Amino acid sequence: MKKKEKYKFQSEVKQLLHLMIHSLYSNKEIFLRELISNASDAIDKLRFKSISSPEEYHNDSDVWINISTNKKNNTLTISDNGIGMNKQEVIENLGTIAKSGTKEFLNVLGQKGKKDHQLIGQFGVGFYSSFIVSTKVVVRTRAAKNKENTGIQWESSGDGEYTIDEIVKKEKGTEIILFLKPEEIEFLDTWKIRNIVNKYSDHIAAPVKIFNYDEQKKIGTWDQINKAKALWTLKKSDITKEEYKEFYKHITHDFNNPIIWSHNHVEGTHEYISLLYIPEKATWDIWNRENKHGLKLYVKRVYIMDDAEQFLPNYLRFVRGLIDSNDLPLNISREILQANSITQNLRQGITKRILQMLEKLANTDHKKYKIFWNQFGLVLKEGPAEDTINKSVIANLLRFSSIRTNSPEQILSLSNYVKNMIPGQEKIYYITSDSYLSANSSPHLEFFRKKGIDVLLLSDRIDEWMMNYLTEFQEKKFQSINKNDESLNKLIDENEKKETYSETENENFIKKIKEILKDQIKDVRLTYRLIDTPAIVLTDSNEMTTQMAKLFSAAGQTVPPIKYIFEINPNHILVKKIMNLNNDVLLNEWIQLLLEQALLAEKGNLDDPNKFIHRMNKLLIN
Ligand code: ADP
Ligand code: MG
Repeated sequence: MKKKEKYKFQSEVKQLLHLMIHSLYSNKEIFLRELISNASDAIDKLRFKSISSPEEYHNDSDVWINISTNKKNNTLTISDNGIGMNKQEVIENLGTIAKSGTKEFLNVLGQKGKKDHQLIGQFGVGFYSSFIVSTKVVVRTRAAKNKENTGIQWESSGDGEYTIDEIVKKEKGTEIILFLKPEEIEFLDTWKIRNIVNKYSDHIAAPVKIFNYDEQKKIGTWDQINKAKALWTLKKSDITKEEYKEFYKHITHDFNNPIIWSHNHVEGTHEYISLLYIPEKATWDIWNRENKHGLKLYVKRVYIMDDAEQFLPNYLRFVRGLIDSNDLPLNISREILQANSITQNLRQGITKRILQMLEKLANTDHKKYKIFWNQFGLVLKEGPAEDTINKSVIANLLRFSSIRTNSPEQILSLSNYVKNMIPGQEKIYYITSDSYLSANSSPHLEFFRKKGIDVLLLSDRIDEWMMNYLTEFQEKKFQSINKNDESLNKLIDENEKKETYSETENENFIKKIKEILKDQIKDVRLTYRLIDTPAIVLTDSNEMTTQMAKLFSAAGQTVPPIKYIFEINPNHILVKKIMNLNNDVLLNEWIQLLLEQALLAEKGNLDDPNKFIHRMNKLLIN
């Protein structure tokens, strides 16, 4: 036999171990959940292999996860007869962090400092959590494929190094021996172990057994301490809320509770069970393009794969849970899954269920729906573009800020907006801007405020894009108020057009402005929609809005400069003053200033801010 070999942990592992030990001290017991979960995964993997490649893997009907204690040595041992590992796998799985996402996660944690240590609960803390309670961990494992009695022993004190050794091991599978820290020997207590297993691992499919020694009778027995029935196969009425929540934590490794879930046994053309959860918190990588998401896939109770994203549209990527199909073949691969018509069918069914679950939440529990919206609203806003079939259902789930709600918090639904429309109002009005504040203070709103017409205030980056796809709600068209809109004139009373000047005087004034501004603008006209603002700019109805142009240029695309329509408020005191000017040079300066002001309000910046400042100062002194 070869000599013991020494290896160094990858630096990320050291970092992770350090973080974990310092941030999970208040929730130490989860190490047992993690180890049982790994054992259960190993059993699932072997069962899958024995079906997909029976010539290489033998199928045991008898599977187990055994827990035993040794009070003399202060050791706790968790063993399974699952797939096991060969040397290469041991080095990869227990010496490095293979998952690129985890590395990124550590970087994020590193940047944000201590506060976000709780985030660590959002991804599987996994095998390394054994070091929270142990001074030393020994792993003895034999790959199921290996027909000889040889295995690998891995050993480490979690301080930067581990050793690898060849050993004799009679049975396939993995045995993990924890040498408990002196202050953690409570984990040797059978009742303590039972409690933890009941709490976290009751519904994993494999039986978890604990070794019980009867001092009087001098005999030991292996007692099963979990229910060992896949939770999702049970009837809804036989499952408690607590069990649903614990199962969620088991499959997601999330420390938080889910907000809501939906469990369905579906019969019909396709038979399947789905158990779908909405988390309370978004995962740290929800905006990462390579973010792993999707459902756990089972076929006829057999575990097939994690993160089967084929069953969820992208805009519902925050949903966690599982699907167990009776119709898909057991040897299905990701590629085949993608093209499979059953997959498409199940995906539609699951999408409907999720939307229904959200609708129910929105209608019955505003507080929880608010939590949901704050976490996932931005993701859901991708929906109208991605899923045209369910567009109107998704529209119902959206929430907005508006003039009426008078708060940056997005709480207004479209159906409530429609209920509050004033007589004569035909459209749903909205404004897009960089921030809630700039939307809320836009001069475009003056008219709507005066008329008591509500306007949706949109300031998320995705909003402008979403509104391209969201064109109607309950047969009402959406209208951007940054754009020219003839229908607004219907809402203006004739007597509001009280004018101090005659038509010819107005016409002359406009002609002068056109001469001054030439091709700086598309058109000039008078407006009766403004009150405190002398002038604004609008884009024409068939043109890109300012916000859209900004998004394009932020994405590195060149956009031609927007030609605005310049509107002047003849009832404004400043405009009246300007109309009376006899000095053409001065008039020119004032008109340029009004345009610059309007552009500043619309765009939030100017091409040449200094020119604007000089002009204003000059006019102030004058
Ligand atoms: P995760 O379970 O999220 O993959 P872990 O840190 O819990 O991460 O485990 C790392 C890897 O070690 C597993 O993916 C698996 O390949 C391997 N492993 C851990 N425990 C066992 C076990 N009992 N049997 C076989 N492989 C295991
Ligand atoms: Mg794990």
